[in-house]
Amino acid sequence: MPGLSHQRCFQHSSREAVARCPECRRFFCRECVTEHEDRLLCAACLKQNAHVPLTRRSGFVRVVRLGQVMFGLLVTVVFFHVLGRQLLSIPSSFHDGTVWRTDRPSNADPR
Ligand SMILES: [Zn+2]
Ligand SMILES: [Zn+2]
Repeated sequence: MPGLSHQRCFQHSSREAVARCPECRRFFCRECVTEHEDRLLCAACLKQNAHVPLTRRSGFVRVVRLGQVMFGLLVTVVFFHVLGRQLLSIPSSFHDGTVWRTDRPSNADPR
């Protein structure tokens, strides 16, 4: 952000601006901005956001986050499903005794 240090707060002309409100594009000092959904908004825009909490951008972010959560859940479910099936398939052949049965005759042959 070039020239931000030379900018003054929109409401306090004596203070240096530290942030720029993404909504009204004006510069504000530390006390005039508030963090809201990972963004630094000025008091006026924060009030507007409070009235209309779902702006297009935050709605999109929420959809993306929801999609990430759903994708993570899906991956987890599929992973454990596959893992569970493999874990189930291995012990069943053990418990059937097929592994041992095929081994025994060749071992017990020499008499
Ligand atoms: Zn603003
Ligand atoms: Zn200020």
